[in-house]
Order: sequence, then structure tokens, then C-alpha cells
Amino acid sequence: MKELFLYNTRTRSKDNKFQSIKPFFVGMYTCGPTVYNYAHIGNLRTYVFEDILKRVLMYNDYKVKHVMNITDVGHLIGDRDMGEDKLEKHAKLENKSAWDIAKFYTEEFKKNIKDLNIIEPNIWCKATDNIKAQIKLIKKLEKRGYTYQTSDGIYFNTSKFKDYTKLSHQNLENLQEGARIEKNEEKKNSTDFALWKFSPKDQKRQMEWKSPWGIGFPGWHIECSAMSMKYLKKYLDIHCGGIDHINIHHTNEIAQSEAATGKQFFNYWIHGEFLNIASGEKMAKSEENFLRLQSLIDKNINPLAFRLMCLGTHYRKPLIYSETAIQNFNTVLNNVINGYRSILEKIDPNKSPEKIEQNPILIDFEKAINDDMNMAVAFSYYYDLLVSGNNYSPELRKELVLHMDKVIGLELNNIKIEKIQIPQNIIQLAEKRKIAREQKKWDESDRLRNEINQLEYDIEDTKDGYTIKNKLNNFKTN
Ligand code: AMP
Ligand code: ZN
Repeated sequence: MKELFLYNTRTRSKDNKFQSIKPFFVGMYTCGPTVYNYAHIGNLRTYVFEDILKRVLMYNDYKVKHVMNITDVGHLIGDRDMGEDKLEKHAKLENKSAWDIAKFYTEEFKKNIKDLNIIEPNIWCKATDNIKAQIKLIKKLEKRGYTYQTSDGIYFNTSKFKDYTKLSHQNLENLQEGARIEKNEEKKNSTDFALWKFSPKDQKRQMEWKSPWGIGFPGWHIECSAMSMKYLKKYLDIHCGGIDHINIHHTNEIAQSEAATGKQFFNYWIHGEFLNIASGEKMAKSEENFLRLQSLIDKNINPLAFRLMCLGTHYRKPLIYSETAIQNFNTVLNNVINGYRSILEKIDPNKSPEKIEQNPILIDFEKAINDDMNMAVAFSYYYDLLVSGNNYSPELRKELVLHMDKVIGLELNNIKIEKIQIPQNIIQLAEKRKIAREQKKWDESDRLRNEINQLEYDIEDTKDGYTIKNKLNNFKTN
């Protein structure tokens, strides 16, 4: 087996070779969307990085069991259990039921996933479908003496859990001080968090359930502990999310899970950095800087250009989004597709596919992906093969790019490659340009190229003449 190195937030290092609990099998849990609004491209960056991770594992011959939750209840406006439930609040704003809101935004999220070629998890699980498992876990914590009751819910006592900040490496005293700003006088420690919240006495919530402590709903963190253990059993290999989850959500998941089981909760914690806008601000659902994938599609950007943009910056570095950058990645995507098409055109159907094992480019590619997912470098090998070819035969280039594409994930084989009909006037301009070049009339030849470009076509000189390409819509995705 090849050696794979992944940066682990838990140990703060990528020094040790990745090792799963069971050989050739990985249990992977990724915190999913809170479905009260559309996902923005920042959220989607996180899901693309997780998809790359999964593909890298699969490339390394692991069978991956991937579980993703849908948070459809319990995520309050403040991550420390203050404020309204995000779903109930948005249901009121949109004049719909919380259930309809959840259903609508879950479907929208799944469309985004598909558009970005993100492989679907093996298990989608909703918090509202798993209330029993959450209550069971809270009961276990209660029995072990980790909980206490206040007027608004059941809380986890963080002071009873040794090493509460072991994932975040935060200074606990500063943290207690900082968290005190969000006043909840009844909490024993300001880092304590809700396991179960009671419905308000004077009002009926849309989403509420009976429990041994009273009618209410689960806290946000408990769902991920309960569902990851329920669906992955003892194969708690990798848990992922965005970096914002390190300090509160994942810290609390670890505290409550390890308090309940006495065992380590997940061996690898892998976190993706934010997508920011040019001013350095984080893209957030609550901010006006919110951009959806659909906004890119409306501007004729192929969603897969956004996938490439995510690959262009290492997942542990901030990705700065700008319109110019996404336009550039759209061009890169067009080059990839044109490159693949020209390979297919040159393939000799009578030749059998070439062997790719031990090819030096593939070895370099594997080294890059296995070095904590260095995708920018990995992509450069793929791109070179598509656009320049490294003097390889078209048959070998095809085999190599399709092999690498298992990780890059453009799914070149599924992209519908249409032979385009070049209009007659463009062909005439190209012919005139060819004659101008033969007569070494370079100014005239440049002028004709400009004219062709203005009509949204491009011309590429080849050994035997030229190729005409449609600049914008020379491909279609399924
Ligand atoms: P949410 O739907 O708010 O629970 O977030 C879904 C995922 O997106 C989580 O893993 C977050 O950590 C992640 N996330 C939120 N904002 C950003 C951002 N600007 N860039 C990258 N990931 C983000
Ligand atoms: Zn979670």
C-alpha cells in the first residue's frame, strides 16, 4: 500500500502515515449543512475538500463509508446555545413550516453536490430522524454524572471532562472569560453546552419531542456524536468540517462522546480553511457577501470551474474568491475539456490501451495527492498531459488523465463532448488568415485573429494548418 500523509488537527501534525482502524476500510463522518438557507460557495469549498479527501482514500484502495448529517433542528443563532433555532426563525421569515424549509434547502444542497461532482455520502442522516439515539446518549451522560439541569435545558458540565480543550489548544481560562459575554447565569461554566433544550413554556415549537426531561429538542452538538457512532460503529477514523468547528462544535462532540464511552472519539480530525472574499472577510450565511453556486452558473460559469478553483489553493490555506479568479478557472476548465477532446480525436481505435503503472508522471501525481492533498501540484501534472502531452501517445495520455481524474473529479468521461459546427463566415476568416500567414503578412493575420476572437471563436495554429475552437460553449456537462 502507498503511504498517505494527512494533517491531523488532533495531533497537529502530518508526520505519521495514515492508518485506518480496519485495513482497507475508512469510516468517515463529515458535518453537513444546517438547512435553513442555501449553501454558499464557502460552505461548498468545505464539501469539495472533503470529496477530494474521500477520492484520495479511494485512490489508495480504501473502501470509504461516508456519513453526512443534515442539521434540521437544534442549531441556534449563537453557537453557544443562545438565541433562536435557525430553522424555526427562517420558517417564520419565509412563512413556511420548519419541515418544509428543511426539505427545500436539503434538496437545493443535493443539487449543488451533484453539480460539483461531489460523490454522495453512503448515508445521509437527519437530526430529526435520530432523536431516539440522541436521547439515549444524553441518558448515558446523565448516568455518568456529566449533566445538570437548568430552567431551559440539560447541560453538559465541561469542568468534569479532563482536557476539554485538547482539540482546540485554547487557553481554558481565557475561553471561560470570553464566553461569559453570552450570559446564561444558570450555566456552571461558560463553556458548558446544551444537550437538550426545553420548548418555551408559553409556546409550542414546530419541532419538539418528548424526553425523560420534558418536551423539547436536542442541542446541536449531540446529533453528530449520536449519529456518527450509530452509523460508523467502531470505525471512527476520520471526522471533517470547516475550521470554525474546531473551537466549539467539534470540541463539544469530543467531550460528550468520550465522556459517554471512555474511548477516543475519532482518530483523525481534518479541517478545511475558509473561503474569503478579497477584503479578507469570511463568506458567511449571515453576511451580505453570500454567493451561491447558482450565482456563478447565472454568469455562465461552469460549476466545475469552482471545483477547480478549490483545487488551486491548498485546503489548509484561505481561498480568496474573486470574479477574475473564477473567470480564469473557467478558462482553465475549457482548456481541459478542449485538451481531452483533441486527445480523443487523435486516438487510434485499433490500438489497445497502454499500461500506465510505473509511469513517472503518475508516480509524481500520487506523491502530491498523498502529501496531505497537494492538489495544485497534482493538477499541474493532469493539466500538462491534457494541454501539452509530454510527447506521449494520445492513447497513453487518455489512460493517464482518466486515472488521475478519479481524484480530480471532473469526470471527463461523462462530459458530453460535442463536435461543434463552425459557421461558414468563421471558416472564411480562418482561410484568409492562413493565406496572410503564408505571405508573411503578420499584421493582417493578427487583425483576422482579432476578428475571429470578437465572434467568440479562437484559432490555434498547428503543424498542418489550424484548429478553430468555440471560446465559450464548446462543451456541455450532463
Ligand atoms: P453550516 O451549514 O453553517 O453548518 O456549515 C456547513 C459547513 O461549511 C461547515 O463545515 C462549516 O465549517 C463550513 N463553512 C462555513 N463557512 C465557510 C467558509 N466561508 N468557507 C469554508 N467553509 C465554511
Ligand atoms: Zn457536526
